[in-house]
Amino acid sequence: MILNGLADYHTHNALCRHAEGDPIDYVRSAQARGLGEIGISDHSPMPTEIDDWRMLLEDFPRYLELVAEAREAFPDYPVRLGLEVDFLAGHEPWIEKVAGMAEFDYLIGAVHYISPEWDIDNPKHLSRWSQSDVTDVWQRYWDAYTACVRSQLFDFYAHPDLAKKFGHRPEGDLRHFYEPAIQAAVDTGAAFEINTAGRYKDIEEFYPAVPFLEMMAEAKLPVLISSDSHDPAHVGRDFAEAVELAKSAGLTTTLRFENRQRTVLTLP
Ligand SMILES: [Zn+2]
Ligand SMILES: [Zn+2]
Repeated sequence: MILNGLADYHTHNALCRHAEGDPIDYVRSAQARGLGEIGISDHSPMPTEIDDWRMLLEDFPRYLELVAEAREAFPDYPVRLGLEVDFLAGHEPWIEKVAGMAEFDYLIGAVHYISPEWDIDNPKHLSRWSQSDVTDVWQRYWDAYTACVRSQLFDFYAHPDLAKKFGHRPEGDLRHFYEPAIQAAVDTGAAFEINTAGRYKDIEEFYPAVPFLEMMAEAKLPVLISSDSHDPAHVGRDFAEAVELAKSAGLTTTLRFENRQRTVLTLP
């Protein structure tokens, strides 16, 4: 069974205020679907409230309790502790502090913000896209994403071409946008995910696009397969198809994480 060879390391829960269910519900779903492992990786807290879609700093101890309860309920099933952490320039000391707040198995680096005021995947700010030059926004997004990878603060990197979420994408060959992020990953030993949630957004395709996957394969990078679930029913969603897509692009390896140490496995 293909799913047994995979982990779903990108999952959310109700603490971030826009997802359903508790960590235990996601673990139950992962086990029922036959995944080899699950990781819990809710949106990381910030020192002050900058938006309404992440866990509050005061809820962080509760997050750890909920993951501990899930582990106790499924003692024979690997439940990893992670976080999806926003990378914003200047936040590095905060990110390092967060990394020391628990015994994480992995941290996912993510770019949602291209400036302190604009999280480009937030539907509340959709009108900003129509007021902006798409190529310019893409350039800013990829500059931020490349800086995120180069920070080396994380174990893998989320939804590489998130900027396409609502369908905004420059014309033509986009590989020149991808190339600096791929090179940053080569230089630092980083890994990216295939995030199957993109199919359920306006763009209706996985993150990242196939040419990005082909560039990952040329660079011999590993790949994570992630659902980015905000509902326990979505754990492992479309994973068999994502593996086939990864292999057809030439990717061959995936990763497991424990205590921020990685193990390389062959894709199932
Ligand atoms: Zn979310
Ligand atoms: Zn994200």
